[in-house]
Amino acid sequence: MAEPAAREQMEFDVVIVGAGPSGLSAAIRLKQLAPEAAICVVEKGGEVGAHILSGAVIEPRALNELLPDWKERGAPLTTEATEDRFVFLTRNGSIRLPTPPTMNNHGNYVVSLGNVVRWLGTQAEALGIEIYPGFAAAETLIEDGRVVGIATGDMGVNRDGTPGPNYAPGMELRAAYTIFAEGCRGSLTKQLFERFHLRVGADPQTYAIGIKELWEIPKENHRPGFIEHTVGWPVSGNTYAGSWLYHWGDNMVSYGFVVGLDYQNPWLSPFEEMQRLKTHPDVRKHFEGGRRIAYGSRALSEGGFQSLPKLTFPGGCLVGDTAGFLNVPKIKGTHTAMKSGMLAAEAVAAELAGARNPEPITYPPLLRQSWLWDELYTVRNIRPGFAKFGFWGGMLNAAVDTYVFRGRAPWTFHHPHPDHTSLMEAAAVPPIIYPKPDGVLTFDRNSSVFISNTNHEENQPVHLQLKDPAKAIDVNWNVYRSPETRYCPAGVYEIVGAELGDPRLQINAQNCVHCKTCDIKDPTQNIVWVAPEGGGGPNYSGM
Ligand SMILES: Cc1cc2nc3c(=O)[nH]c(=O)nc-3n(C[C@H](O)[C@H](O)[C@H](O)COP(=O)(O)OP(=O)(O)OC[C@H]3O[C@@H](n4cnc5c(N)ncnc54)[C@H](O)[C@@H]3O)c2cc1C
Ligand code: SF4
Repeated sequence: MAEPAAREQMEFDVVIVGAGPSGLSAAIRLKQLAPEAAICVVEKGGEVGAHILSGAVIEPRALNELLPDWKERGAPLTTEATEDRFVFLTRNGSIRLPTPPTMNNHGNYVVSLGNVVRWLGTQAEALGIEIYPGFAAAETLIEDGRVVGIATGDMGVNRDGTPGPNYAPGMELRAAYTIFAEGCRGSLTKQLFERFHLRVGADPQTYAIGIKELWEIPKENHRPGFIEHTVGWPVSGNTYAGSWLYHWGDNMVSYGFVVGLDYQNPWLSPFEEMQRLKTHPDVRKHFEGGRRIAYGSRALSEGGFQSLPKLTFPGGCLVGDTAGFLNVPKIKGTHTAMKSGMLAAEAVAAELAGARNPEPITYPPLLRQSWLWDELYTVRNIRPGFAKFGFWGGMLNAAVDTYVFRGRAPWTFHHPHPDHTSLMEAAAVPPIIYPKPDGVLTFDRNSSVFISNTNHEENQPVHLQLKDPAKAIDVNWNVYRSPETRYCPAGVYEIVGAELGDPRLQINAQNCVHCKTCDIKDPTQNIVWVAPEGGGGPNYSGM
């Protein structure tokens, strides 16, 4: 076989992996502080925003600091929050609860985060930042113990790993500093955690899966700025879950369901729970006469303050959700991701202008002096309280922590276990029987994935790798009845041949919407998500 062609190299001052809110905010702040710096952002989505999925009600605090004239610049924050409702659902009824202060959205905006990120991308490009969409960072370049950049993935590789007719080797993007802004459960970040021991002393990161639908509804039913969060039905009290419903834009409704990935019942299907929640009388009325126009899913980091890793290492740092800056009680990570990107940029700009230390050492102290640190610190006990005390105990703990201690209780609850250790054996609990979809209000996975516009080059190596293929049946099927067939929101995992007594796992990798849940929840951490060929994955619009 011919030697693979050598990789082309490009040199920058700073390379940023991921064009999400954190990566683009880092890029923009850097260019504001160091106008001469050569900055490049790589993005695995086919265009900026294509892989962004969020609620989203966003707090404009970080944006006000980054681009104070965002209104004049035409930022797509046009629907102001008008009404907050927090509701506990029973099977057929509902009880309105007082809105916790963390969920008060006065002054916030309901947006499509994908649209906001597309707009941020244009602002970055106008400053001279180079953005390369359609290129996944597949490898971190490390030399003499220092990160010196990344390599994008090879293109045109056959399924068996051999170069195909359109083979093109990846590119090496080298830089003095590399900022990783991959979002929740970044695939390169995961390797950096190991390589530089970044998680020593931190609690395990905990996660949730969020599944979203976008609906267009009749104008007469639309209440711009209406925000509702529900808890309770259809899940039991020991599962941390809830829905959101936001009215925004031109007759759009963003609806979705979030389930903490520390759930225990292996029969639980977050996708089907999300579907059946729509049949509740309080929820279904929002969709009457409407039509579903988009679908997608993404994991979110829930560990918060006590799960933050060491943020810097020789040659770079971590920002945004890949580090875990999301504020769970607020259900918001955009302003925190942006702020962390801006602080990292300030630290990197200082190094470029001065000492050029191997690590951008001023990033952690800048963070500790910022509102971001204080914000995450004061809510640190709320999410672990639900894991510790269940739903009502968790609510009580949240109230005491917020109103009595004002976030400064003299203790910190910990996240004792990573999420993949929490599943019970399938034989210990009865299967959950979910209702069949009606195709009008409720849907199946295939028709859902269809409207996520997901596409991958089919003849490429499978990007969902099994460390030990035998475990798919020996452990996942025999012990847990293959929970990946239920938690994957895209129907990627299927067991075939079970009825003939020969169960085998089939991986429909082309359907993957890059939510990363399998990488998080697989009970033996046997499934590893690696970046597929750049440009593959969902092509979200309005999400
Ligand atoms: C269901 C859900 C609902 C949410 N609701 C809200 C809300 O209402 N309000 C709010 O403020 N926040 C909300 N959040 C959180 C918010 O979306 C995130 O905190 C925020 O998007 C994090 O920004 P980020 O830049 O760190 O990561 P992301 O937004 O995930 O962006 C990361 C980018 O990096 C790219 N990327 C990843 N790996 C690579 C690679 N190896 N090579 C190249 N590119 C790569 C991705 O394609 C993506 O474009 C929600 C999140 C979810 C999942
Ligand atoms: S295969 Fe994994 S990352 Fe892809 S959609 Fe399914 S659970 Fe998410």
